Amino acid sequence: MHGMITVVGTGPGSTDHITPAALRSICEADVVIGYSTYLDLLPDLLVGKEVISSSMMQEVNRCRAAFDEAEKGRRVVMVSGGDPGIYAMAGLIFEIAAERNSSIEIEVVPGIAAVNSCAARLGAPLMHDFATVSLSDLLTPWETIERRLHAVAAADFVIAIYNPKSKKRAEHIALARDILLQYRNPETPVGIVKAATRSDERIILSDLGHMLDAEITMQTTIIVGNSLTFTWHGKMITPRGYRGKYRLGEEQPKSE
Ligand code: SAH
Repeated sequence: MHGMITVVGTGPGSTDHITPAALRSICEADVVIGYSTYLDLLPDLLVGKEVISSSMMQEVNRCRAAFDEAEKGRRVVMVSGGDPGIYAMAGLIFEIAAERNSSIEIEVVPGIAAVNSCAARLGAPLMHDFATVSLSDLLTPWETIERRLHAVAAADFVIAIYNPKSKKRAEHIALARDILLQYRNPETPVGIVKAATRSDERIILSDLGHMLDAEITMQTTIIVGNSLTFTWHGKMITPRGYRGKYRLGEEQPKSE
């Protein structure tokens, strides 16, 4: 038996947004390991499988368990919400593989990230250069997060803010907003999407000046427009540049 670890992204929440490749990997697994919040979204897929699920079990222990099982010759699937390579488990699996100098085969199956599903709900806010910044300072010093916010705001990137709030970090989003206001107008459009594709999904279109009035939770991603982003009929749109280049909105010259 040839054990392996597949790190699978299950998308933003609804089963409609899991890729067929991710489903196939889960179906073929002997053991499924993951954070219970994500596994709870997939009950039908887990029937008949060994499931190692615990919200208490630390990430590092969970990854070590994945290697222990794979070394017994089992096919292990490690589940992450969204995409497994974005603020998730793929990196830690490779770090532990390198630490153990493991010969276990590792495959990463991509998923639809929160930034993708939230952007789709809002309209077309990304469309041009964008950056994601996580406000979680569990693994990253807050000074680093602030430095990156200054850099991406100054460079006029559209900014997707992950992990905007938790019970222990209620004030970080206000500090981040104050940094962005040093570079952008208070009227800059801001999209706030909670639980995209899930039954409790909530979409709010606001602006930098008013965004803190909206409900912001751990399940929220916030997308802040660049200096050209505009809103139209409740949608958030970042122009790509067609208007200047192809004279969109002007009458087209008639072909002879
Ligand atoms: N790997 C995940 C990100 C995990 S970090 C991905 O690729 O999307 C957890 C953060 O992701 C949350 O705090 C929130 O900011 C964001 N997030 C995850 N699922 C979401 C959803 N359905 N709607 C909005 N934001 C979501």
